[in-house]
Amino acid sequence: MTVSVHVTECCNLNCASCFHMIPLSDGINYYIENYIRPQLQLLAKHENIVDELVIMGGEPTTHPDIISILYVFREHFPNTKITLATNGTLLSVFNNIFFIKALQRTDINVSLTEYPFVPNYEYHYKLIHDILDQNNIKYTYNFTDKFLVQPFHKELHNNIHDAVWCKAFHYCTMLKDDKLYKCHLCAYVDFLLNRFPEIDWIKPSSDDYVDLNDDSLSDDAILNKLAQLSPICEHCIELNRDWFTDNPDEMKSWTRSKLNKNEWIKE
Ligand code: SF4
Ligand code: SF4
Repeated sequence: MTVSVHVTECCNLNCASCFHMIPLSDGINYYIENYIRPQLQLLAKHENIVDELVIMGGEPTTHPDIISILYVFREHFPNTKITLATNGTLLSVFNNIFFIKALQRTDINVSLTEYPFVPNYEYHYKLIHDILDQNNIKYTYNFTDKFLVQPFHKELHNNIHDAVWCKAFHYCTMLKDDKLYKCHLCAYVDFLLNRFPEIDWIKPSSDDYVDLNDDSLSDDAILNKLAQLSPICEHCIELNRDWFTDNPDEMKSWTRSKLNKNEWIKE
């Protein structure tokens, strides 16, 4: 499965409806030695179930130690595919020879999500493509000008006892605070609920994650638990949605967040 790790809760875009709830976070960077390395050490005990690791946030290139972070990920997962997910807005980072050398030496791929509101975006992203091409760094890119609407709808009642796996399983698992969460919504809904405690119909629970401090958990037991739906899934529109939809009712144009709860919920 693919496991993603936030190395920062900072993002220079702060998109409305960010499904990682970044605009609602405290905007902290995680330190390598007291957070990132211990998380990777815990996960490395189960490296057989990790097909790919994704370094993300927030925007990981805003982290002042992003170069060291690349080396630390590779140190703990020497044989695993690792990808850096970035919005590619910080050209100065891609122009940094030490950053580019670190990508080369660690053999870490880049996944660029390109945003059309970046000034001169065609020229901007072409410069980044050229840098990556010239340095033989593997990368993929996609273009985003629409965002999915709110993930949680109060009037929606999915039958979570159906034997149907959510598509998040295998692709959206998050490593956070010693735990593997089923998806980014399970992992970061606390940012939403801490800011808007009046939302009492979204029910996070211990069924949303596995605790990696539990040494009795086998790899199979972890996969089995992550594959099950949990109470938080009852109101989530992701369960039955076509993830590659271009349905205009499910998409909206990009705006910066105004920290309005209706960016994430529909009541
Ligand atoms: S660029 Fe990505 S991480 Fe940053 S706020 Fe937007 S959706 Fe969230
Ligand atoms: S249905 Fe559940 S597992 Fe799937 S995205 Fe929603 S909260 Fe996450």
